[in-house]
Amino acid sequence: HLPTADLQALDAAHHMHPFTDGDELNAKGARIITRADGVYLTDSEGAQILDGMAGLWCVNLGYGRTELADVAAEQMRQLPYYNTFFQTSHPPVIALAKRLAELAPGDLNHVFFAGSGSEANDTNIRMVRHYWAARGKPSKKTIIARKNGYHGSTLGGASLGGMSGMHAQGGLPIPDVTHIDQPNWYHEGGDTSPEEFGLERARQLEAEIARLGEDNVAAFIAEPVQGAGGVIVPPETYWPEIQRICDAHEILLIADEVITGFGRTGNWFGSQTWNIRPDIMTIAKGLSSGYVPIGGSIVSDHVAETINGAGDFNHGYTYSGHPVAAAVALENLRILDEEGIVTRCGAETAPYLREKWMQLADHPLVGEARISGMMAGIALTPDKAARASFAAEGGTVGLRCRERCFANNLVMRHVGDNMIIAPPLVISKSEIDTLIERAVKSLDETLAS
Ligand code: PLP
Repeated sequence: HLPTADLQALDAAHHMHPFTDGDELNAKGARIITRADGVYLTDSEGAQILDGMAGLWCVNLGYGRTELADVAAEQMRQLPYYNTFFQTSHPPVIALAKRLAELAPGDLNHVFFAGSGSEANDTNIRMVRHYWAARGKPSKKTIIARKNGYHGSTLGGASLGGMSGMHAQGGLPIPDVTHIDQPNWYHEGGDTSPEEFGLERARQLEAEIARLGEDNVAAFIAEPVQGAGGVIVPPETYWPEIQRICDAHEILLIADEVITGFGRTGNWFGSQTWNIRPDIMTIAKGLSSGYVPIGGSIVSDHVAETINGAGDFNHGYTYSGHPVAAAVALENLRILDEEGIVTRCGAETAPYLREKWMQLADHPLVGEARISGMMAGIALTPDKAARASFAAEGGTVGLRCRERCFANNLVMRHVGDNMIIAPPLVISKSEIDTLIERAVKSLDETLAS
C-alpha cells in the first residue's frame, strides 16, 4: 500500500533488474504493475495497460485465470514438493509428460523437465553431447546456432544465443558453439529475393558443417521464428533446406520453441507451422502461461532411447518436474485445448491480427511489417525504398517508440529499430483494434518527435 514514488525509490535502492536498457530511463523509476486481468495490466496509479507482449511472450492464456491458482493451492496442500531424481515420480509430472507427448508432433514422446527455457537449453547441450558419446562418436560436440538468436541467460543459453552484447559480457560463447547468420531478409537480403536469400542463409549451415567436419558437429539449434531478435520471420525456403541439411549430415535438430510453443504461431508448436521435424524441442513460457516457472526438453524416441540406455546422465535440477508447476501447466494446457484457444487463434485471431498488423507497413515510419501467427514485428526506417535503418542515429528510435507506446498504455517491445508484439492468445478482435490504434498513435508521435 505504499505510494508509487516510495515503491519506485525502494525498487531503485534494492532491486537489480534483468536486462536494463538505458540509464536515463532507469532513472525515471519503474512502472509498478499491481494487477492484471485478460490482456490488461493495472499499474499502481490505476492505469490500464494493454499488454501487447503477454509479459515476456508467455501469458498465452491471458491474466486472471483463477483455475490455475486453485490447482496450485490444491497441489501445495497435497504434495508441495518432491524431486524426480533417483527413480521417484509423482502424478502431476507423469500426467504432464504424457500430455506433452500427445501434443508434440512426430515421435517427440519424452520430456526432461527444467525450471526455465535457459535451463532446458543447458540440458540440451549436455544431452546431445552425451547422445553422440553414447553412440560411439564423442567428437560430435559442436553445436551450431545463429547470430541474433536468443536461447537464454545461463552460460549455456547465452552461448547458444547469438547476441553479441551478451557474449561481450562474460567471455562467451563457451567452447564448441559456433554461429551462422540469421535469415533476416529485410535488413540483410540486399538485392536477392526472399526465396533465394532463405536458401542462401540455410546453406550457410552446410558450409559451417563442412568447415568444422561432420564428425565434430552434434546439433543445430534455432527458434522456428526468431523472437527476441526482432520477430524475424524466415523466408518459406529456409526451413525445408535446414531440415534437408540436418538429415543429410546426421546433425540433431533442436527447435527452441520457448516462444513459438503452445499456440503462438497458430498451431500448438512452431515446428508444425514451419514443417520442421526436430529431434529435441525446448519449451517453457506458454507451457504454464507464465503463471509458474517451468521449462523442459521434449525429446524424440531415438534420443531418449540412447540417453536412457547409456548409463547415468549426470544432470538434473532440484525443480525438474516440480509438482506445483506441473499441475499448473497441465491445467493451462487443458484450458488452451478445451476452450479451443489454440484452434481459434489459428483460424480467426491470428488472421485478423495479420490483416490489421500488415497495414502498419503503410505508415511513413515503417519499412516492413511481418507476422507469424500471434507474433509480429515492424521495422522502423528513415527511408522505405532503401530499407535503411536508424542505426546511424544511435538506434534510439525504437526505444523512443516503446516509450510512446508505454505512455499510451500499450506494451510493445523494441529490438533496435524493430517494434514487436506477442499478445495473449485470448485477445479479442476489439482489443486487437485498440492495440493497433495505440500503436499508430505512438508511431505518429515518434515520427513527430
Ligand atoms: N529460448 C527462447 C527462444 C527464449 O525466447 C527464451 C526467453 O525469452 C529462452 C530460451 C530463455 O527462457 P527463460 O527466460 O525461461 O530462461
